[in-house]
Amino acid sequence: MHKCSQAIAFAMLPILVFLGRQDEAPGYDDTPYLTDGTWRVHDKDRPRPVAVSPGARSGDAPSDATVLFDGSNLDAWKGGPWKLVDGAMEVNGSGTLETKEHFGDLQLHLEWAAPAEVSGDSQGRGNSGVFLMGRYEVQILDSYRNASYADGQAAAMYGQRPPAVNACRAPGEWQTYDILFRAPRFEGDALVSPGLLTVLHNGVAVHHAEMFHGATAHRQVASYRAHDATGPIQLQDHGNPVRFRNIWVRALE
Ligand code: MG
Repeated sequence: MHKCSQAIAFAMLPILVFLGRQDEAPGYDDTPYLTDGTWRVHDKDRPRPVAVSPGARSGDAPSDATVLFDGSNLDAWKGGPWKLVDGAMEVNGSGTLETKEHFGDLQLHLEWAAPAEVSGDSQGRGNSGVFLMGRYEVQILDSYRNASYADGQAAAMYGQRPPAVNACRAPGEWQTYDILFRAPRFEGDALVSPGLLTVLHNGVAVHHAEMFHGATAHRQVASYRAHDATGPIQLQDHGNPVRFRNIWVRALE
């Protein structure tokens, strides 16, 4: 080979090697296996995460979410019906709302507002709630300067565990819950692992993988009874005109 062509071939070698590897997945096939024995460290064959488009702003539904309420209708719900007002739905004394679809492990985003005009006190002030699987309540309450008992405050695992801090906004202001829930597991009638809850209230972590001791109870110690692997999300009608908007959920496998 001519010296010049040799030089060109040599110079092109990294490009040819690079092109040759274009159709190969980046990663390794000679690294040690991770402890579960399925995949290697940086495994080139490990399936890549599915692409999801996040919402434009924090709190907006990502592309793979199930939208439960966007302000326009109550199609995802049964019970009630609650009143549609100004792009929100409002508790009106017609009873519990419950999703038609059932969920187990989930990520749930919702926004709520207690009545701007304070009436009542303690648990009578802006009371509602989110019941996961129709059983496990994340409390909704106007706990802004409200001396109600600790395990009944906003974002409490009602009757079981108070939120780590009180992140409640003033009455009438919109507030967010971002909830991660791992459903309890049962084998027959036996509890194998309890329900676990993480909650951000207005972006503030108030529970982190905390354990539910059983289905929510009032003035009683909660306990578990085996149930299906999925259940509805319920919103409580506690007689106070609490409003909700922008509710979406992602089932987690
Ligand atoms: Mg409640």
